[in-house]
Amino acid sequence: MSKKRHLPDWMVLCKSRKMEEMQEEVNQKNDEKVQKRKEDIIKQKNAKFDKALQSAKQKFKEEKKEAASQVFEQIMNEQTKEIKFEGKLIYSSHTNDCNMLCEDIEMALCDSTEAFVGFDMEWPVSYKVGKEDKTALIQICTAPDTCYLFHISCMGSIPSNLKSLLLNKHIKKVGVNIESDIWKLERDYDIHVIDIIKNSMDDIGVLANKILGCNEHWSLEGLVKHLFNHKINKDPILRKGDWSKYPLSEEQKLYAATDAYVSYKVYEKLVNKQSSDLENIIIGLRRAIIYLCNQKNRVIVGAASNEKEEDKLKGVVIVMDQDGNHEKVYGEDQTKDISFTLPWKVTATNNANIFVIDNSGHEVEGRVVVLGQEDIINTAINSEDKHFAPSYFTTTPADNVVVFDSENCFLHVLNSSGNLITYISTKDKEIKAKLYKLNLVDCKYRKTYY
Ligand code: ZN
Repeated sequence: MSKKRHLPDWMVLCKSRKMEEMQEEVNQKNDEKVQKRKEDIIKQKNAKFDKALQSAKQKFKEEKKEAASQVFEQIMNEQTKEIKFEGKLIYSSHTNDCNMLCEDIEMALCDSTEAFVGFDMEWPVSYKVGKEDKTALIQICTAPDTCYLFHISCMGSIPSNLKSLLLNKHIKKVGVNIESDIWKLERDYDIHVIDIIKNSMDDIGVLANKILGCNEHWSLEGLVKHLFNHKINKDPILRKGDWSKYPLSEEQKLYAATDAYVSYKVYEKLVNKQSSDLENIIIGLRRAIIYLCNQKNRVIVGAASNEKEEDKLKGVVIVMDQDGNHEKVYGEDQTKDISFTLPWKVTATNNANIFVIDNSGHEVEGRVVVLGQEDIINTAINSEDKHFAPSYFTTTPADNVVVFDSENCFLHVLNSSGNLITYISTKDKEIKAKLYKLNLVDCKYRKTYY
């Protein structure tokens, strides 16, 4: 048996110190562990937060994408929305009935000076080479809410009042490729169509090119897409269906009426567009000068926008034909080299160049701009260092243009291309002789209207 040893006091002290140290070490380690655990927890928390944030972001992105794709779909749907005739549809398959209806149409439209009807025809598609079926249906849309379907294949011929309506030169028939349709009527029935073609129809494809300033082969679908952003039903089964069979199905009636209705709407839109384009330029103008030009019966209008501040003045020179159609608008497109401030006077030489005095808007200072067939050909004729103040000009029998600079008392003589030939001081005692020499006296002044 062992006997417990008694340690000396110093050793006991040593041991207890050692024990304390060891305990401290343990405590320290524990502290570190706790700290580490704390840090881990924070890290974990942070990671969780990051993850949540990421997924929230992702979700937000997806939702946005979803929303965007919904909007896109909606736009696409709107773009391809189908246009349909929704008004009163009058279907006629008897001669007497058709005569009465056509008389009514003529009576109703005779008061209007610019009466027009949407026109279309349908016939069964023949699959035999060289054979073409007779026109079966004539559709006439007289108003956006009224469309007549004349089933002429059931009548055997074109009733007299329908003929009269077609030939009425005060009622314009409008449609795409309408001329070839009208010629087909002459091949199919007893009717002479040359007067319709000459006097009472308008091809809306041709009209569209004229008004939109393009050169396309338009289909009805193309026009509807371009002008209304809509589509029309061109189901081939319906289109190539039997149009001579009595009675037409409701689907056929709606399809046929829509074609004439859409022709009506397209024509209406084009004509309104034409007049609003003109109004946009003419209305609100500060001042307009009109020059009636002998060459090619042109009308030239110079005008400036109605701005209070002189710096914002923007001028245009519009060349129109005698019907008011714009052949050219100079100065409208600022990206091109031509811009006007205040077109003040306009004249034209026999070579069809247009001369414009463009006032700067600030003072009497200005310039002369010469417009050629294509574009600007000359500007700012200046004789000396002094500013140029053209106030009036006129053409001469020799096709020169004499510009009067009232500020500096000079006459500038230009050739028809706008190049300066000479200038004469109005204070010059020899002025008369000089003018005679240049064949400038007795020139007939062309009229310039304010
Ligand atoms: Zn059609």
